[in-house]
Amino acid sequence: MQRTKRILTATIAVLVCASIIVGSSTEVDAKTTREELMQIRKDKLKVMDSIASGNKTLEKYNAQMAASQKAIDDVQVQVDKVDVLKKQAEQKEEVYQKKFNERLRQLYERGETGYMSQLLQSNNFSEFLVRFEMVRLLAQQDYALLEDKKKATEQVQVQIDKLNQLIAKQQKEVDKSKDAFNKMMAEINKSKGKLKELQGMEDANESELIDINKALISSGKLKFPYTGPLQRPMDYPITSGFKFRWGRMHEGVDFGTQGKIGIPYRAAADGVVVESRVSSGYGWLITIYHGEYNGQPFYTRYAHSYPYEVKVKVGQEVTKGEIISAVGNNGHSTGPHLHFEVRIGYGAKPPAKDPMKYFGS
Ligand SMILES: [Zn+2]
Repeated sequence: MQRTKRILTATIAVLVCASIIVGSSTEVDAKTTREELMQIRKDKLKVMDSIASGNKTLEKYNAQMAASQKAIDDVQVQVDKVDVLKKQAEQKEEVYQKKFNERLRQLYERGETGYMSQLLQSNNFSEFLVRFEMVRLLAQQDYALLEDKKKATEQVQVQIDKLNQLIAKQQKEVDKSKDAFNKMMAEINKSKGKLKELQGMEDANESELIDINKALISSGKLKFPYTGPLQRPMDYPITSGFKFRWGRMHEGVDFGTQGKIGIPYRAAADGVVVESRVSSGYGWLITIYHGEYNGQPFYTRYAHSYPYEVKVKVGQEVTKGEIISAVGNNGHSTGPHLHFEVRIGYGAKPPAKDPMKYFGS
């Protein structure tokens, strides 16, 4: 967001500037390309936001699926327990079924003749009736017991059915979350495709803008108002100031990093990179043009980094605070530090100024 704002500020600055200068076609080209680039970057941020929120939604669905699955697992544990009870109930039922069957078999085998002979053997009819009644009661009792066992088995089955219904319900939830997950995944993949497309467009526009800026630099037409004050390129102490030392002028300030290399440093203000090259004294020199300051071009320079740390190209537009390279010990340097200069004016080497006078609070 901050970056977009800065680009916007820079663009407005250029627009103001373009209206002052009688615009050559390249100025117009730069403006159009810059506006396109801004739009692409905005679109890219939107797509990146939607991917990020999509990923969050995926996490939510994942959590839902996990919760439903956990519920299923918990119910399954209960089902397994009740299954054991069911087996026990069925075994009991089987035992009583056998008993009852046996009783029936006995009754059948004896049959009417059996009872007839019993009747004949009985001393009297009432004794027979008592015996007959006893057999009938035993059979009735066996049957009642069997019914009990059957009921017990059924009750366990009802419990199992209820639990299975719970599982089915949770399974539906899992499927619902899975569907939502897959849909969101498809959307994210679509956004990723879009992002790739936008990235390609951004790269193309950036290099187009770089080419236009390069043409403006070489024709001396790169011009826009300075937007200060400067921001310190890094949060490290200044170990040597802008002063006369070792028999000559020290034309900048040094930010010391206590022997460490690779600490990144940043552009001091919005601008366009006009130099990024090897230099015997500076080791590697990056120069950024920040616009017209009291009618004169304002530059900052950054020295001693290693070429592999450099993040910017000539013609590239940078925003204040953007990382441009990292501290090295390259060139005439007695230890890792950033040598930072402010130069205002014309010529191959415009006059150096004390950077301390241009930093904001
Ligand atoms: Zn220095």
